[in-house]
Amino acid sequence: MSIFASVPQAPADPILGLVGRFKACTAEKKVNLSVGAYRTAEGKPWILPSVAEAEKMVISDTKLDKEYQPIDGKAEYKRPVQELIFDADVIDSGCLATVQALSGTGSLQCIAQFLKFMGVTKVWGPNPTWGNHPKIFQRALLEYDMYPYWHQESRGLDFEGMIAGMQKMNEGDCILLHSVAHNPTGVDPTPEQWQTIVQVCKERRLIPLLDNAYQGYASGDLAKDGYAQKLFTHSGLEFFIAQSFAKNFGLYGERIGYIHVKCASKDAADAVLSQMKIIVRQAYSSPPQHGAAIVNKILTTPALKEMWLKELTFMSSRISDMRTALRGAIEAKGTPGTWNHVTDQIGMFTFTGLTKDQVVRMVEEFHIYMTADGRISMAGLNPGNVDYVAESIDKAVR
Ligand code: PMP
Repeated sequence: MSIFASVPQAPADPILGLVGRFKACTAEKKVNLSVGAYRTAEGKPWILPSVAEAEKMVISDTKLDKEYQPIDGKAEYKRPVQELIFDADVIDSGCLATVQALSGTGSLQCIAQFLKFMGVTKVWGPNPTWGNHPKIFQRALLEYDMYPYWHQESRGLDFEGMIAGMQKMNEGDCILLHSVAHNPTGVDPTPEQWQTIVQVCKERRLIPLLDNAYQGYASGDLAKDGYAQKLFTHSGLEFFIAQSFAKNFGLYGERIGYIHVKCASKDAADAVLSQMKIIVRQAYSSPPQHGAAIVNKILTTPALKEMWLKELTFMSSRISDMRTALRGAIEAKGTPGTWNHVTDQIGMFTFTGLTKDQVVRMVEEFHIYMTADGRISMAGLNPGNVDYVAESIDKAVR
């Protein structure tokens, strides 16, 4: 009799579990639109050429050893990643606490623990949101609730509902916002709507947490995709950012990202950094070096940075072309419903509006793997499979 006999089998992760099912599927025509990872026109994973180049340089760099990194990552690596978000005067002010962390999820995990430590009781996230969000905060023993976000009828943002939801939040509550390319809906607030959101955060004295998993991936332009972060930075609010380099550098498996905490003073930032370091020390002691070194090499080598910026444009344009192709193919079939949301939405995902039953048909009958909420990863579409996907959507909704 095992001491683990009472441990129940947990269900597979709703997204990563689908990847396993896709691999095991023997159907000739199968498509994986579940996981948010970029694929080439042939449906293969892609190592960005800038990353491949930087990696060679990192490996041959004799100054890099395999010693432990500092708890919060190398000090000299911080500025280039801060510059992707913040202006020089903000960085120079010393009001930022920056910590290298294990990609976006690891950053959120540490921030959740920090929120608990500083006495925050409740986190509010958008309805819907990335499935891991509620669990991360609940595991840190924070209350988690949702504010309205998606408007089913218009397949757009329920802005009025969102603001009304924010009015119900209490002072000191944390509000989780996707800084760009909302996952799973692909629907973001307009610049004017962001201004109102910042204003309401101020009035209600909320603590914003911006999840920045797709900067540069939505429009191809870091500044455009960084609009909300800039707005918060210059609002006078103190807030958190979880910055992931999984998607925009294609460094999914290297687990590289950063936590930034914008504080009101340098003293506050120093104190926050000292406490974040304790959280990291107790969780995993210090971060991995390789991904951080690659990102740093790209950001500090002008030719590589230029290459990377072009690659961002390339990836985001491919996705946008696939949006046009998918909408065109669906509309050409006269499929019931409206399909403008396919091209209106941005970033990696389209929230198709397919019902649970329709999704079951997509997966079981057509072998098109997608999450139960009707989300598809546009990065998994390519010229070779887009017609088949459109045809299957057409059959599923009729
Ligand atoms: N936040 C959001 C909204 C995401 O979509 C993801 C990835 N799917 C993450 C955070 C975290 O990703 P990672 O840990 O790979 O950086």
